[in-house]
Amino acid sequence: MFENASRPDLTYAPLDRAAHLRDDPAALDAMRGRPDARALPFAKRDLLLNGERYERLGWTALDDPLVTGAELIFLGLEDSAPRYAAMLEETEAPAGGTFIEMRTAILSGDFGGENAATASGALAMVNWHRTHGRCARCGEATAMTQGGWRRDCAACGATHFPRTDPVVIMMIERDGHCALARNVNFPDNLFSCIAGFVEPGECVEEAVRRESFEELGLTLGRVAYASSQPWPFPMSLMMGCIAETTDEAFTLEAAEIAEARWLDRDGVRRMLAGDIPDMMAPRKAAIAGTLLRDWLEGRIGWT
Ligand SMILES: [Zn+2]
Repeated sequence: MFENASRPDLTYAPLDRAAHLRDDPAALDAMRGRPDARALPFAKRDLLLNGERYERLGWTALDDPLVTGAELIFLGLEDSAPRYAAMLEETEAPAGGTFIEMRTAILSGDFGGENAATASGALAMVNWHRTHGRCARCGEATAMTQGGWRRDCAACGATHFPRTDPVVIMMIERDGHCALARNVNFPDNLFSCIAGFVEPGECVEEAVRRESFEELGLTLGRVAYASSQPWPFPMSLMMGCIAETTDEAFTLEAAEIAEARWLDRDGVRRMLAGDIPDMMAPRKAAIAGTLLRDWLEGRIGWT
């Protein structure tokens, strides 16, 4: 644990989740009738902005025709006023509004801060509902309950809860250098920390060791948690770790990794500044960027 590790983007959304209200049907009903209740509309997976400025989320009153009849997910309270995500089918924005694709907006670096954190949590819930309309046990249709925090199957009685998929992402250091890799699926020249899904039966540290060996051929010494980031594309939790190795030679997993390099701190600094022509740095909003900056500035790591 590194107590000075930075908080990645998309974390610490300012809403009070008010989870105790989710299983209180009378309270949920009463909140929907409040004049200060607002919903954040998603057309499929695209977020409504009021205008074109990222700081103006498209919060909409519940009696607005845009959200009337839409399924609502209770996100929590903002100064005691209820907040929802509204799941819309149509993609035509109301007058003055714009629907945006959030991944592009977040990676551009223009959409961040508290609003992006709130919208990201909402999007992860929308993504879950949109892909879990049928019961995983019996295949019948399920219905939203608990303000959107559960789906129930009337046919077999199964209950289904929102899902988060754990992913490990690791900054590997060796004697003042850090390993950066270009995935075969990355856009041109983008180098980043390697990452992979945690598999059933693994703890976080085991997943980090396995991925490092599989993708780069590196055997690790210490592994430690640094920070984490919810990443709603569609519903992951990126668990950022730092690890050390004494191995220098890479053995690349050809199907995944096109190239890997060791950079010292000066190299990382130059890459982040855009001064290495054939290496594009991870985007600022992604946790890989947070891990690199934290390592560069001594907030995480051992060397
Ligand atoms: Zn069922």
